[in-house]
This record gives sequence, structure tokens and C-alpha cells, in this order.
Amino acid sequence: MKFCSECAHPVVLAIPEGDNRPRYVCTHCNTIHYQNPKLVVGSIPVWERDGELQILLCKRAIEPRYGYWTLPAGFMENEETTEQAAQRETEEEAGANIELGPLFSLLNVAHVHQVHLFYLARLRDLDYAAGIESLDVQLFTEATIPWDDLAFPTIRTTLELFFADRIKVREGGDFGFHSVAVNRPMMAPREPD
Ligand SMILES: [Zn+2]
Repeated sequence: MKFCSECAHPVVLAIPEGDNRPRYVCTHCNTIHYQNPKLVVGSIPVWERDGELQILLCKRAIEPRYGYWTLPAGFMENEETTEQAAQRETEEEAGANIELGPLFSLLNVAHVHQVHLFYLARLRDLDYAAGIESLDVQLFTEATIPWDDLAFPTIRTTLELFFADRIKVREGGDFGFHSVAVNRPMMAPREPD
């Protein structure tokens, strides 16, 4: 940041007294502007047909990663819970009517100052539709997921964990909770057709 959001004077990077890392500090009004990680929250909407699990993915209509596929997710808003954020993002991006389940994955993406959370979810019906941030919304099986055209590493990791757990579920187990660090960079942009 360059200017103080309280008084509009330029800020400087400095370690405040009693602190141990540089902060943006306003030398005019003395406000310290702390910057902390953001939460990205979404769902894994599941539809079961003939014993096979299908996952609802959205094709992004916005940058970054326009045209790539993602689970419905977005930045958490103030004054909502993580569950409400997951539900809202799924409704906004996929027009999907879901029953939210337990938290499935927590992904620390420290290099971009984000934490991503994904909840298991069951689609109540097939009346989904692309929202304004999506070009398309489709159900995919593990075999048909566009693995090379996923928008973000956290989406790939969450889907890989989901289908790995699916094997355990078939053997009488349950979906677990996974807390992982994702350090891999975004995939290179696809070459234009
Ligand atoms: Zn100021």
C-alpha cells in the first residue's frame, strides 16, 4: 500500500515498537496497517448417480485463470461464517442448491497470503446454472474432470484428496479432514488455440 486509508498521507514500511516485522505505518496519524492472510471458502458439490460420484465444477468467466475449471469458491465476506461463505459462493457461481457437509480440506497457500477451505456438499437437485462469474457449470466424474485445465493448485489438491478418500469410503471408511500446505505455483497459462 502507498497511502494511509485513515488520512491519505503516504505510508512507510517500518517495524513498530514491540513488533518484529515490517508494517505499513502512517507517520502522520500513526495508524499501523496490518496485512493478514485472506480466506477463500468453497464447496465440493457432489451428485451420486449409479454409485458413481460426480463433482460440480465451474468454468471461470473472470481473471485470474479465465476459462479454467474450479470448484465454486471465493473470498469470505465480513459478518458471515465460513459455512455461509461456502453456501453463498456455491449459489452465486454455480446456481446450485446444496446441503453443506463437514469441512474437508484446509489448504495453507502461504506464498499468496491465503488459506483455502472446502466443505463437502450434496447437490439437492440438478437445477444448477452458471452465475455471472462462470462461463459454464458441469458435473464431472473422476475420469472426466479436466485435470489439465484446473484453475488453481488448491482445486487439484482438494479433488485428488477427495477421490483418494472415495476409495476408503467404498471400503467402509469415511471422508476425512485434510490440512495441507500447497506450495506449488499456478500452472502455466494454456497456449491459445
Ligand atoms: Zn494516516
